[in-house]
Amino acid sequence: MKATAASEPLRVLIVGGGPAGSSCAISLVRLAAKLGRTVNVTLFEHKTFGTHYNQCMGVLSPPIVQLMEEYLGLPFPRELVLREIEGYWLHTENRSIYLSDTSSEHPEPSLATRRVYLDGFLLSKVQTAGVEVVVDRVVDMEFTGDSVQLYTEGGSYEADVLVGAFGLDRTMGEALGRRTGYRAPDFLDTVVTKIHPGLEIVNSFGNRIHAFLPKRLDIEFAALVPKRNHITALIAGRKVTSGTLLEFLKSPSCSAVLNFPYEVQKVFKGNFPICPAKNFYGDRYITVGDSAGLVRPFKGKGINIAISSGYYAARNILERGITREALSQIEVDFAEQIGDLWYGRAARWLARYLSFFSFFDPVIEVAGHNENLRQALFDSVSAHNTYRSVLGRVTSSPRLILELTGAVGLSLLRGKQPRA
Ligand SMILES: Cc1cc2nc3c(=O)[nH]c(=O)nc-3n(C[C@H](O)[C@H](O)[C@H](O)COP(=O)(O)OP(=O)(O)OC[C@H]3O[C@@H](n4cnc5c(N)ncnc54)[C@H](O)[C@@H]3O)c2cc1C
Repeated sequence: MKATAASEPLRVLIVGGGPAGSSCAISLVRLAAKLGRTVNVTLFEHKTFGTHYNQCMGVLSPPIVQLMEEYLGLPFPRELVLREIEGYWLHTENRSIYLSDTSSEHPEPSLATRRVYLDGFLLSKVQTAGVEVVVDRVVDMEFTGDSVQLYTEGGSYEADVLVGAFGLDRTMGEALGRRTGYRAPDFLDTVVTKIHPGLEIVNSFGNRIHAFLPKRLDIEFAALVPKRNHITALIAGRKVTSGTLLEFLKSPSCSAVLNFPYEVQKVFKGNFPICPAKNFYGDRYITVGDSAGLVRPFKGKGINIAISSGYYAARNILERGITREALSQIEVDFAEQIGDLWYGRAARWLARYLSFFSFFDPVIEVAGHNENLRQALFDSVSAHNTYRSVLGRVTSSPRLILELTGAVGLSLLRGKQPRA
């Protein structure tokens, strides 16, 4: 592959203006200035944020403030925060527990925002940085020996390297897959709706998110998130539909929280990845954020990871080059997330089957008096810690394992007793 001389401007095309693409664009400009290099960056985004939006609950987990400041040089836009999340209620069909961060004296809260404002904010900073933003849909691409060619609905563009930040867009995933070994990540479906019960009821939720582990295998988890003037309801699973969402909203555990008359008007469908994509980088291309599937398996921190992967991709392109070998550094940068994959799968599997067979109820009973287990549940639900450390916290205490085994055994026995 022909190398680009360090004195020549490096031409980069970024597909997607979500947090991963915007972060990569801003980082390319900032890091190039530090290195005395010239980059010509063009970013393609076909949505107009405000009219269109990216599916999300908009909950930003720590250390989002530091990430934006350190990686992007942007003071965190506090005006976008609708609520500071103090804690989480975790519900099974029969039990509930309140979880908050007891690991430090001054825990950093998660921040509930309106996602579309965050996307709009970041994209405006991309433009301020001098990046050309093209409002168009990319439909295909070609790789030649020494360049990459992108085709949009309105024209074609040539550059040295392509950054795929297109989320789980199927057209782009297939187009990149046809030209390279890239294979989009496996994903879950999500269905979301907004409920407007009036300010008094929204405020009665306080700054707390309700997370649910329903006793059914098709829903992996569900959540109710209070925003400024409404509540957002979400379900996630392999093949969930708007019908599944309605069933969840009518379920006893959800009705115990959302106990007022309301109408479900619009529902929105989305996806999130649950594992890394295959060949998410190669000669002259790298994917970031959801396209790369560099996410916490199961749940959480998608935006943080999108921002950090955009930054690391930019750094590797400028400091190491655009060959597959040079870009493979991203696997080292994300070793913690990639290494957490199997722990996340185990946590996902445990949560699904324990709740399906009602064995999560005794887990919650034990967590009621065991602070270690409560913190492990908090770290898992809030995405504050890796699944490896969550499972490590539980398995490193033989007393806790014994207590959990006893509680699950007891509930098994109770379940086998004939009903009066
Ligand atoms: C229901 C739901 C709730 C979530 N809640 C949270 C949460 O509370 N907190 C959190 O941290 N994460 C959450 N996530 C995950 C988070 O939304 C993603 O991880 C994050 O958006 C990934 O950012 P991204 O930039 O990689 O992709 P995206 O945000 O999907 O951005 C991709 C962009 O590429 C553009 N694009 C795609 N194809 C093309 C094309 N062909 N041409 C031009 N432009 C294109 C799209 O329009 C889009 O703007 C949630 C996800 C879902 C589905």
